[in-house]
Amino acid sequence: MLSVKDLKVNYGAIEALRGISLEVPEGQVVALIGSNGAGKTTTLRAVSRMLRPAAGTVKFRGEEITRIQAHEVVARGMAHAPEGRGIFLNLTVRENLDLGAFLRNDSAEIQKDMDKMFSLFPILKEREKQVSGTLSGGEQQMLAVARALMSRPKLLLLDEPSLGLAPQVVDKIFSVLRDVSQAGVALLLVEQNAHKALQLASRAYVLETGEVVMSGTGQELLKSPEVRKAYLGE
Ligand code: ATP
Repeated sequence: MLSVKDLKVNYGAIEALRGISLEVPEGQVVALIGSNGAGKTTTLRAVSRMLRPAAGTVKFRGEEITRIQAHEVVARGMAHAPEGRGIFLNLTVRENLDLGAFLRNDSAEIQKDMDKMFSLFPILKEREKQVSGTLSGGEQQMLAVARALMSRPKLLLLDEPSLGLAPQVVDKIFSVLRDVSQAGVALLLVEQNAHKALQLASRAYVLETGEVVMSGTGQELLKSPEVRKAYLGE
C-alpha cells in the first residue's frame, strides 16, 4: 500500500532523514518508534507531502506520489492526523469533522460517517457545537483522529495520538485505532508510547538520527533487549 525508499529530508544544514525505507502493507498497522529528534514526524510529513524530500521515492497504492500536492494525496486515500493535532480551534467540533470530508460530495454518506465518529467518540457528540479550542487535550486528540477518518482514508498517518493524555484516554484512543484497523484501514503510527504501539503493530521500525536502525514484527521488537532498554524503560 505504501512503499518508501531511501527518503532524505534536510532542514537547511540539518540532515533530518538520511535515507529511510519502509513498507506499510494493505490494512496493517506499522509503528515508528525512536527517541526525540529521530525523524519520526519528518517521515510522516514527507510521506503526506507536507514537505518536500531532498531525495527518495514514496509510492502509494502503486503510484509514485513524490511530486504531487498534499490535497491530491488526500484524494488518493491518505489522511494525516499531524503532531499538534491540526484541528481548527475557532471552529466547532462538527465544522472540523465536515472539513475532514472536504473532498467528498456524498452528503448522505458523510452524515453516516459523522454519526459513526459520534458513536466511536460519544464525547464529541456532546461537544458537537462547541468551539474546538475549548475542548480538553484528549478531546482535541479524539477530534483529530475522527477528522482524519472523515476523508475515508485507506491509510491513516498518526503522529503521537496519545501524547500528554491520561491513561484512560490513551486506552480509548488505542481501542478505536484497533477498530479502525480491523475495518481495513492501514495505519502508520508514530508513538512515544512504544509499548502500546508495538502491541498494536504488525510491523515496526526503530529510527535513530534519521535512519532505520532496527525493524521487525511488533512482537519481535517487544522482546528485543535493545528496544526494551532504550524505549520501554527497562
Ligand atoms: P519527537 O519525538 O521529539 O517529536 P521526531 O522523531 O518526530 O522527534 P523530527 O521532528 O522529525 O523528530 O525531527 C528530526 C530532526 O529534524 C530533529 O533534529 C529536529 O530538530 C530537526 N527539525 C525538525 N523540524 C525542523 C525544522 N522545521 N527546522 C529545522 N530543523 C528541524
